[in-house]
Amino acid sequence: SVTVVGSLNEDVLVSVARLPGRGETVIGRSAVLAPGGKGANQAAAAGMLAERGAGAVHMVGRVGEDPAGHRQLAALAASRVDVSRVHRTPGAPTGSATIPVEDGTGENLIVVVPGANAALTPEDAGVGSVRRAAVVLLQLETPMATVTAAARAATGTVVLTPAPPQPLPAALRDRVDVLVPNEHELAQLAGAGPGERTPSELVRLARVVAPCAVVVTLGARGALVVLPEEHPLLQAPPPVTAVDTTGAGDCFCGALAHALAAGTDLPAAVRFAVTAAAISTTGPGARGALPDAAAVRALLPR
Ligand code: ADP
Repeated sequence: SVTVVGSLNEDVLVSVARLPGRGETVIGRSAVLAPGGKGANQAAAAGMLAERGAGAVHMVGRVGEDPAGHRQLAALAASRVDVSRVHRTPGAPTGSATIPVEDGTGENLIVVVPGANAALTPEDAGVGSVRRAAVVLLQLETPMATVTAAARAATGTVVLTPAPPQPLPAALRDRVDVLVPNEHELAQLAGAGPGERTPSELVRLARVVAPCAVVVTLGARGALVVLPEEHPLLQAPPPVTAVDTTGAGDCFCGALAHALAAGTDLPAAVRFAVTAAAISTTGPGARGALPDAAAVRALLPR
């Protein structure tokens, strides 16, 4: 089974003709609510890939006792995720992200309110579904002490998306089996500047950041697998027409966890994840085009 310990948010997507400046009021065209949070997006991706009778997907997290919390639980359950360990937290709002998106350019601004995600405790992460999972999937949108406790409680493979990027305590870094940054997160973790890098520069940074397997996601270029003692491997995605890449990295991680939990080796699991994430870019939002396993297999290179 796969257990995700992480965030659940309600995204408020506001379309504007032009992003507001400081102190300015602009009139938006529409506001749409969408389920979000890196943790919940990853769980939804893994849930959609789960096949009948195979290992389940469990979510450990916190939402508020508010309508937004109810909507997040319902959305995850609809993606076939067990939400019995998502607690409703009195006195805290469900986490939210308010995102004005500029028409035409797609440029955005993001204001995140962690709300109940900040109340997820190390005790919450010590549950049986974390201890027993074949794969535990973590991100950094809940307190670091909780993420670390989840990694330490796990007996299976630990996969970490280091987002938003921040220094990893040794107790966490030492227990991670697979680190999955995008290029920007890798550069931040390595203390390097922004900007495009060649594959060999990326490999060097990946080896600096952690002694474990590192899978660097590279958008339309696919993903780079860096193992400590082996040649790096670049896995390109199948050709797709991307319309919205929001949450592509989260779909990648959910799919990677699904494949690893099924016993697939890392290079083949990355091939599966690259394909699933490519499909996820063909529809709107983070969860608008999450594939099932048959759709991924149909596009897998032979
Ligand atoms: P993030 O969403 O965290 O910024 P990336 O942009 O690196 O992460 O995307 C994650 C994965 O999604 C990539 O490794 C790739 O498999 C897939 N992907 C993203 N953008 C595209 C695209 N334009 N075409 C095909 N696949 C894509």
